[in-house]
Amino acid sequence: MRIARFVVDSDPLYGVVEGDTGSEVVTVIHGDPFFSGVERTSVRHKLEDVRLLAPIIPRSKVIGVGRNFVEHAHELGNEIPAQPLLFLKPNTAVVGPNDPVVLPEFSEEVSFEAELCVVIGRICKDVPEDRVDDVIFGYTCGNDLTARDVQKSDLQWTRAKGFDTSAPLGPWIETELDPEDIRIQARLNGELRQDGSTSQMIRGVRELVSVVSQAFTLLPGDVIMTGTPAGVGLVSPGDRIEVEIEGIGRLSNPIVRR
Ligand code: MG
Repeated sequence: MRIARFVVDSDPLYGVVEGDTGSEVVTVIHGDPFFSGVERTSVRHKLEDVRLLAPIIPRSKVIGVGRNFVEHAHELGNEIPAQPLLFLKPNTAVVGPNDPVVLPEFSEEVSFEAELCVVIGRICKDVPEDRVDDVIFGYTCGNDLTARDVQKSDLQWTRAKGFDTSAPLGPWIETELDPEDIRIQARLNGELRQDGSTSQMIRGVRELVSVVSQAFTLLPGDVIMTGTPAGVGLVSPGDRIEVEIEGIGRLSNPIVRR
């Protein structure tokens, strides 16, 4: 099931997206699916008539995972970390489909990173790997935009990874997905730049959720970005960056400088 968050007139709504590409329909659901489940109303819209928003604004945090693909670690001259390399992006970094990514004044080298994102469904801590599916609400596409120059010059990654608009999410949350071997692609101005699979991860999705839950209590709506395959590159004002993940859909954002 595909759960979208969107606006038609004013207030954000949640809905279920159904139908084939190009003719999808959104059925509005009551309330917030993270707390009240999925109960459909009789109100329906064509997908093309609504404006999609980030499918979730995390209640507390976006957790990132660095260097989780061997070839990506090596393309930036890094070793594979012995311990999971975790970082946080604030929820103010999250934007939705087609929202502009605003390049920060303090960086000249912002890179895209296409990533499968896990959306947590219930409060949890110290989740064993074989119980991880019980705490996952679903999956969405994400872009872990990174100010590469600042990542090198700052001791912490907070500014490099956490600036406003650095975490586009969308277009919706897919609640039924087996994350073990799905394709992750990025296109810059229509040109394929990243083309990997979750099967190439150093730590797989379920292991990551378990590991992250050992460090942090996870809340409904928290997001885990699971790392990017090789092929990352810099973006410039006027570019359009697209993340496509098999079984979910395509997230597209323009790049601007204020
Ligand atoms: Mg990343």
